[in-house]
Amino acid sequence: MEKILCYSCNKSKNKLNVRKSSLLPISLLMCETCISSKIEPRWLIILAGRSMGPDHVKEFIMKKRYIGNDISASELLV
Ligand SMILES: [Zn+2]
Repeated sequence: MEKILCYSCNKSKNKLNVRKSSLLPISLLMCETCISSKIEPRWLIILAGRSMGPDHVKEFIMKKRYIGNDISASELLV
């Protein structure tokens, strides 16, 4: 059986839930831990920042609502 990974923390979990992103109009497969801590995948925050502007993702970046290395301003400007 194919292993499904959480879009946010990249861990394989027994149970993943479909959750609508609050930044972009797409659906994500995420584990309970990520959903309950209200985080979004790091790549999605960057993507949303690039397409909708840094203000759109400011809160996520300031409150570090993602997993991984800090997102730098330069990553939002491409
Ligand atoms: Zn997760």
